[in-house]
Amino acid sequence: MSSKAKTDQFIDQIAEIMREQGMRMTKPRERILRELYEASKPQSAEEIRQNAGFGPSDLVTVYRNLESMLSLGRVQRIILENGTQLFEWVEAEQHHHHIICRHCHHAEPIDFCAAHELESIAQRAGFSEINHVIEVFGTCKACEKEADPAK
Ligand SMILES: [Zn+2]
Ligand SMILES: [Zn+2]
Repeated sequence: MSSKAKTDQFIDQIAEIMREQGMRMTKPRERILRELYEASKPQSAEEIRQNAGFGPSDLVTVYRNLESMLSLGRVQRIILENGTQLFEWVEAEQHHHHIICRHCHHAEPIDFCAAHELESIAQRAGFSEINHVIEVFGTCKACEKEADPAK
């Protein structure tokens, strides 16, 4: 399948989930989703705005649409140490965490989740609707090399 066909298929899947949840696939949402799906790494709302061809005044629109699509389960938010928010698409039902380079935002998925024990503690404490956010930060090999070419 061509990459265009893959993206189209992704858009169709999301449109279906939207219909089930009473949301509509709008042109701005489709542009954002295409950009998310075709990007090689998580991006900020501002990067998505630029790369998806929105105008300089459209940041709020992009951000609101990203927010509204988090509930679909196919768009995920990553919050960096400094509070910067990045967005990426995820496979259905694929809960995962990341190792993120704090310099270039290169992100590698970690398939393993260490939070089950923590969630059962929350459960025993009587909490419901439990969720967790875990990200691991560091400096990737490429950024380390750039900072110190001798390495
Ligand atoms: Zn890096
Ligand atoms: Zn987890």
